[in-house]
Amino acid sequence: MNVTGQVFEDMQAQNIRLMQQLWEKDDANFKLMSERIQSDQFHKLLKEEKEEMAEQVLTLKTQVDAKLQVVRKLEEKEHLFQSNIGTGEKELSLRIQALEMNKRKTMEATQFADKKLHDFRDEIEENSVTKEKDMFNFKLNISRSLDISRLQRNLEMTKKPDNVPKRDEILMEEIEDCKACLTCPCCNVCKKDVVLTECFHVFCFDCVKTCYDTHQSKCPKCNAAFDASGFHRIYIG
Ligand SMILES: [Zn+2]
Ligand SMILES: [Zn+2]
Repeated sequence: MNVTGQVFEDMQAQNIRLMQQLWEKDDANFKLMSERIQSDQFHKLLKEEKEEMAEQVLTLKTQVDAKLQVVRKLEEKEHLFQSNIGTGEKELSLRIQALEMNKRKTMEATQFADKKLHDFRDEIEENSVTKEKDMFNFKLNISRSLDISRLQRNLEMTKKPDNVPKRDEILMEEIEDCKACLTCPCCNVCKKDVVLTECFHVFCFDCVKTCYDTHQSKCPKCNAAFDASGFHRIYIG
């Protein structure tokens, strides 16, 4: 009986121990279950994050592709610009050459025109001298012919003795005429001693100088304009 009691007690103690172990196992199982649930949730979260990241990666990849395309287009534009610059530089050098050539031609034309102008001036000067000489000769001829006709008249008068007083009168008139011819028609006082080379009218130096100084610079007889080199001194008698 004692043995049975002892066994029963052992069994009881073993049962209690086993029950305790069972509870412990249950606790451990419960802990494992809750850990599993937590890890599932964590896994789900990680999966969602991964999907999101993949989506972001895809978006970034699309953006990178778009940027690369833009870069390619910019490179093409750069090539185009470089070729345009090359063409522009060539055109510029051609234009510079053309400009230089035009400049050279213009300079040659200017030199030629200068030479022509110089020749033309020389010719005008020569013509003016010839004209002056011709005019002088013409005036000389007229004065000679006037002298001749006057002498002829005098000769006729001297042939007639009755005409002596009249002849004196005529001679006086002629002397007056000659004086008038030698006197400046402007002031009627001074002797003629300056000729205007443009119109060949003759005056005294003071009258011509007064005209020039008062900036009129025009012949008092015919209004022909003259400048500082447009009159010369002459010496009569
Ligand atoms: Zn005068
Ligand atoms: Zn004049």
